[in-house]
Amino acid sequence: TPVTIIITVIGVIAIVALVTVAVVQNRPLPQKYKYGIVLDAGSSHTALYIYEWPAEKDNNTGRVEQKHSCKVDGPGISSYASAPLKAGQSLRECMQKAEKWVPSKRHHETPLYLGATAGMRLLNMVDSVASEDVFQAVKEALQKFPFSYQGARILSGQEEGAFGWVTVNYLDERLKQGLETTGALDLGGASTQISFVSDNYDGSESPNNSVNFRLYGNDYNLYTHSFLCYGKDQAHRLKLAHQTQSGPNAVADPCSHPGYNATKKYSVLYDSPCVSDRKPQGAPATFHHTGTGNLQQCQEVVRNVFNFTDCKYSHCSFNGVFQPILQGGFGAFSAYYFVMDFLNLTDTTVPLEAVKEQLKAYCATPWDQIVQQHPKAKLKYLAEYCFSGTYILSLLTEGYNFTSVTYSDIKFIEKIKGSDAGWTLGYMLNLTNMIPAEAPDFPPLPHA
Ligand code: AMP
Repeated sequence: TPVTIIITVIGVIAIVALVTVAVVQNRPLPQKYKYGIVLDAGSSHTALYIYEWPAEKDNNTGRVEQKHSCKVDGPGISSYASAPLKAGQSLRECMQKAEKWVPSKRHHETPLYLGATAGMRLLNMVDSVASEDVFQAVKEALQKFPFSYQGARILSGQEEGAFGWVTVNYLDERLKQGLETTGALDLGGASTQISFVSDNYDGSESPNNSVNFRLYGNDYNLYTHSFLCYGKDQAHRLKLAHQTQSGPNAVADPCSHPGYNATKKYSVLYDSPCVSDRKPQGAPATFHHTGTGNLQQCQEVVRNVFNFTDCKYSHCSFNGVFQPILQGGFGAFSAYYFVMDFLNLTDTTVPLEAVKEQLKAYCATPWDQIVQQHPKAKLKYLAEYCFSGTYILSLLTEGYNFTSVTYSDIKFIEKIKGSDAGWTLGYMLNLTNMIPAEAPDFPPLPHA
């Protein structure tokens, strides 16, 4: 009868509806993510990083990843001392990309941080007004975007070192699992950091080098030191400044390739507090910088940038700075990686002596050949890879006391699981309280 047909049809519709509801309910909800943005205002450039993590796991463990990065065009913000507004403008393009990358629903709750490192530390030392003006301009530019602006500031060298260490160990999941940690070696343009945990160090000797963390229920007593003026670019100035002391008209540089020839301005070389007090009296405006390409002699001039004479502690690295005995593995990133990757020397299972042989042949290669072999490389970098490689080996072995045996404890790394190694991730995790001090609770027991 029509009534039975209607009842049957209603029944079928009801069953279909119930099944649909059940299926939909069992389907996992679309994953929701949260975001954080950190700008790394380095001495030679600024980079923007966007981090992402599952929304419901805010306070949980090991799930924050770098989703995007953007390299700001032009130099670091400290180079805009005489035109601060341009420092702000330079960030616009990457910030506009960030606006597209972060879903608009999340914009307002996405924290935005800018941290400046040694380039701004140096500018602040010589001209604190200019440094303030740069920050003001940067702040105004960043606040125009819809994110939750959390401030722009200079990180101390200790913070830079310690957060680099947090990043590396977080990404390797060493903190969450309470594993032996990895040390962090960071080489920037204006400063360099070394951070590691050593059983020999409880923070009592040279307390300034000590940073304490309680992370996931474990206490860490970290040794960290930042050497201002020992980043790759400032160390290059230190070396050239030393070389120009003896004959101020010309420098025949063993760290440059044979056939390299450039005229350089003293005003540019000495425009940094790292070297400004060494400017020779009555020096000419320019000097000729030529290359001789000799590794052994280059090592000798590079050695001059370190002071090994006095140490009032049980052990020192250089310049009278305390350093406990090296321990464990180390990740070396930023310019350590760029340089060693370019030189094809990232494999630290290759014996140190063989590494030096390769570098020796590279340094001795004529400049025109080097330029021909690397048509795409930036000439500024290209002219300095021999110095940079020599400096890195000297810093590691003579400065920090890595030996031909412990050299293989170092890994030259750029990224870990897709995220760049550097201080930015550790900084954000710390400021957003995303690494709990205590280990997460065990999952609740099932009902009896
Ligand atoms: P900072 O700007 O202070 O973070 O320092 C970055 C350092 O890495 C600077 O010394 C740059 O010159 C250097 N750097 C960046 N990219 C390269 C590259 N492709 N080759 C060599 N050095 C680089």
